[in-house]
Amino acid sequence: MTKFRSTERHPPTAISKPFCIRPKNVLFSYFSRPLRFRLQLCSLRTSDLSLSALFPFTVTKNEIADILTDIAVLLELKGENPFKTRAYQTGARALESLEEDLGTIIAEARLQEIKGVGEALAKKIIELHTTGKLRFYEELKASIPPGLVEMLEIPGLGAKKIIALHQKLGITTIPELAKACADGLVAGLTGFGEKTQDKIVAGIKNRESYGRRHIWWDAFAVAEPILAGLRALSAVQRAEHAGSLRRGMETVGDLDFIVAATEVVPVVEWFTTRGGIKEVTAKGDTKASVRYESGLQADLRIVPLEQFAFALHHFTGSKDHNVQMRQRALARGLSLSEWGLVPAEGEGTVKDKVVQLNVGAADSAKSASSATNTEQAKSSNGASKLETNAGVAKDTSAASEVAKLQSKASTRSSVVPKVSDHRKIASEAELFAALDLPFIAPELREGLGEIEAAEGGYLPKLIEHTDLRGAFHNHTTASDGRNTLNEMIGAADALGWEYIGIADHSKASFQANGLSEERLLQQVADIQKLNTSQRFKTHVFAGSECDILADGRLDYDDSTLAKLDYVVASVHNAFAQSEADMTSRIIRAMESGRVTILGHLTGRLLQRREGYPVNTAKIVDAAIANRVVIELNASPWRLDMDWRHWRRAAERGVLCAINPDAHEMGSLDFMRTGVNVARKGWLTRELVINTKPLAEMKEWLVKR
Ligand SMILES: [Zn+2]
Ligand SMILES: [Zn+2]
Repeated sequence: MTKFRSTERHPPTAISKPFCIRPKNVLFSYFSRPLRFRLQLCSLRTSDLSLSALFPFTVTKNEIADILTDIAVLLELKGENPFKTRAYQTGARALESLEEDLGTIIAEARLQEIKGVGEALAKKIIELHTTGKLRFYEELKASIPPGLVEMLEIPGLGAKKIIALHQKLGITTIPELAKACADGLVAGLTGFGEKTQDKIVAGIKNRESYGRRHIWWDAFAVAEPILAGLRALSAVQRAEHAGSLRRGMETVGDLDFIVAATEVVPVVEWFTTRGGIKEVTAKGDTKASVRYESGLQADLRIVPLEQFAFALHHFTGSKDHNVQMRQRALARGLSLSEWGLVPAEGEGTVKDKVVQLNVGAADSAKSASSATNTEQAKSSNGASKLETNAGVAKDTSAASEVAKLQSKASTRSSVVPKVSDHRKIASEAELFAALDLPFIAPELREGLGEIEAAEGGYLPKLIEHTDLRGAFHNHTTASDGRNTLNEMIGAADALGWEYIGIADHSKASFQANGLSEERLLQQVADIQKLNTSQRFKTHVFAGSECDILADGRLDYDDSTLAKLDYVVASVHNAFAQSEADMTSRIIRAMESGRVTILGHLTGRLLQRREGYPVNTAKIVDAAIANRVVIELNASPWRLDMDWRHWRRAAERGVLCAINPDAHEMGSLDFMRTGVNVARKGWLTRELVINTKPLAEMKEWLVKR
């Protein structure tokens, strides 16, 4: 992230609405999303993202755990007996803390050996794992009015109260609930009262504006000045943002700031009194939370300097990454938390094991340092009393991990635990080093194999913003852009781009003022003139964002397309086609031999519209076969093809073009969000064509 600040050449400008759809404040379809989204809209973490939607039939254990948790909630809403409900919760937790590969366990019929997984639960887990679906879950969902599930998002409304509202007042939706509150009916119910009713009314109001995630770009725009402001305070020694924003996720739930400071009060004071704050939701000795007018929530955590690296790592990593890092620490006889890295204790056994292993390794010096560290751990825990609540939770989970380690340690006696003095760990790089790992970039910390790659020495050298030399998908006023050709090129020139590609819409996109053949050829001539005039240092490539028609034909004929330097082909209509039709439509277009880059693969608009269904694997295969580059559309609403597909696609040989899909000069800056997600997709510079210098790029386009 630091890199963005240092390489920023001009301040971000306001973002205009992207083309194709001018959303009329359409809330994206709430009920088309998995239930767990709805239950956790405010507290979504990366691990909750529906990978199953992207990778059919690779249901992870955490996704299964999410569904089991959903089932527990639904059963509660049905008024089922608490034992049954708890069984699902226990099962979910058992899966979450599973260390072994679930597929292996299932294959070896050892599922029921897991504590908390009985026969009935095992069957459901197997069904989910093998088919990606669970009939019981689908039927259960269908049997409960969705409005009741939604009500769980309203603060103060638990399952019991919702059942009461449903049974006594016949309420099945939130609007019905709002009306009942307005009529004073809710206050009259036993166990409710005026206060509860008021709270429900406030909760319903807030839900609409606060219950959503925010696109990274918007969140970053809020976070950047806060971070700068924090760093400017004299009491602040170090400050960073963490969470999904630092990981470069396409959407961000809330902002996390980690600060090391010599004094707490002035920092909290500054943080809670800035402009744009709608509400200060918490103000403590080491923490503060505020909510901005936009609905975005920001949390501030202040830690002693020696804990900074640990807190930053802890609040940056996804749940899965953090679990894997803790397990790695435990395998070395250490306990990793947001406060430090200390010898693992708990039930006395692991510490004993550490000592035994140390003795076995004839490393008495390490034993001694282990003892010292234990004391440090105690004093450090004492110093962070203010985090008690979180601490208790963490300790419990650490204890269970410690218990699991007991068995693991006995089979892994070859591992010689290293004990680090956590006070000497001043950076995340040192934290990783203490666990025998190279630094893992925040964008990779999703628990998707980055730790294995780090260990195996095959972490990719991720693409950087400064690697980019230009981009191909940009619009001008000739179609639906808001700046002229000259303005767009001038902006690219000012950014130091070696080249810019102009790809206005084709004639079928009449709503976007798509170009007729005549207008397109005129534009090509204008571009050639500009290049000859050398008015700008930036070279201009003449292209088109050519519509892929409903039947897979391209919107211009072959001879017209042949006059262009390149073609971006995109789907802009007939979104309702089936997955099979949409997939073969796109493949047909790629097989034309005229397509250089496939534009925004799914047409999704984050927080606004789901993408159309498409078989990504087949598209990737066809792209390889036809030597078509797949776009990583860097518009903050698109970020499409999704980063979760890039690693595998690139391994198979697909090249990427990161394009801002800019409709105005300021939007050329979208490249930064493109780079974020490219990094999340493990992309290196070599895999992204627009890192090529101009001469090479020209040659590549001709040869291709
Ligand atoms: Zn488009
Ligand atoms: Zn476009």
